Amino acid sequence: MEREGIIFVVSAPSGTGKTTLCKELIDFFPDLRQSVSFTTRAMRPAEKAGRDYHFISASSFAMMVDKGEFAEWAAVHGHYYGTALAPLDACRQNGCDVLLDIDFQGAEQLRRNYSHAVFIFIVPPDMVELERRLRLRGTESDEVINNRLENARSELQAGDWYDYLVTNDDFDRALSKLKAIVIAEACKRSRIPFSVAELVGLSV
Ligand code: ADP
Ligand code: 5GP
Repeated sequence: MEREGIIFVVSAPSGTGKTTLCKELIDFFPDLRQSVSFTTRAMRPAEKAGRDYHFISASSFAMMVDKGEFAEWAAVHGHYYGTALAPLDACRQNGCDVLLDIDFQGAEQLRRNYSHAVFIFIVPPDMVELERRLRLRGTESDEVINNRLENARSELQAGDWYDYLVTNDDFDRALSKLKAIVIAEACKRSRIPFSVAELVGLSV
């Protein structure tokens, strides 16, 4: 009997550094998989379909919603984003740990159905630095950046119920904290379906 896979949910206002941190985390833990979301937003130049997102039309997205194919979905910054239910459940049942980079609305939906999931909120050092990072990334127009900064205010209010808060000031320090969370969660007694005696092969 394997232990259930752990669902790690990471949220943060756009520009905080969540995508960069998640990529490093996935590279560090060979057994941790990134969940690939569906979105109706346009692909950015550096992105790859199927790796960063499944890019689909609004009508295809609506069809998936109607068929109940999402574990969660939400409208974020004027586009739709969602996590497919079937691969998430398969991963969990097969003992595979999975990392979801989703917004707070999606996280709130998952909290209702996945009570053992781990919710991590990444906090920017301050609003000035958040804006600097968004502008430096250079992937959005001024209008989109302003909209994301406006949304950040309400997103930050939603961070209080998460299990863990990690401030992304120094990148390496934030990454170390995320690694510590992943390791500690895998060691939790309640997640291990064996007695200590069984773990060491002691016959009882
Ligand atoms: P998000 O996924 O939260 O929208 P990104 O991962 O795209 O954010 O990061 C936004 C920008 O900030 C990127 O250019 C990234 O390289 C940079 N960045 C991430 N973390 C830090 C950090 N700790 N210090 C300075 N810049 C950072
Ligand atoms: P971006 O467009 O910058 O890639 O992502 C914008 C926001 O959408 C981020 O906050 C990101 O976490 C969120 N997001 C990405 N995928 C999903 C998803 O499947 N569901 C939800 N609810 N939010 C998502």
